[in-house]
Amino acid sequence: MSKISCDICKDLIPLVKDEISTEDSRNVVKEHIKTCESCRKLYGDESLEQSRNPDLDRELEKLKRRLQIFSTVLMMFGVFFGLSLTASEEMFYNSLVMPVIGGLGYVIFGWKAAYLVPGLLFLMQCLLNFFGMARGMEYVSLMEIVMWIGIYSIFVELGVVIAGLLHFAFRKER
Ligand SMILES: [Zn+2]
Repeated sequence: MSKISCDICKDLIPLVKDEISTEDSRNVVKEHIKTCESCRKLYGDESLEQSRNPDLDRELEKLKRRLQIFSTVLMMFGVFFGLSLTASEEMFYNSLVMPVIGGLGYVIFGWKAAYLVPGLLFLMQCLLNFFGMARGMEYVSLMEIVMWIGIYSIFVELGVVIAGLLHFAFRKER
């Protein structure tokens, strides 16, 4: 086995770590780090902290952002759908829709969803009411809105808590 310099070894280490090097390169690196402490350190450190984790973190961060965007779209759809059912005969569907909205809210906001999502629902219901009136629909009083959003909030909190517990359990597992 031919000897290599530390510089060559340093060049080869990332390739070996990423498992894209040739068999020969891997062998010379393994051989070299048996006798060279500084390269051995580089080999060990990089595998644990420098070369792999940033990539993994970046991937996870990207995945998380995508999940949040997806959840936001889905949640807004759910908010409009759910609120459009208010005071209609299909309103009982909201006992299913609202926990889902709460769960999605947790993915986006974390525990802050506990007050941000009910706040959002209240705001959107007021807006819908305003535009509904403009189109000649029946007026819903503020008291009624507060009451409906209060009931919805119970279901929302249920979804937030379930999502939060699942997240906690999943993190513990890892
Ligand atoms: Zn060396």
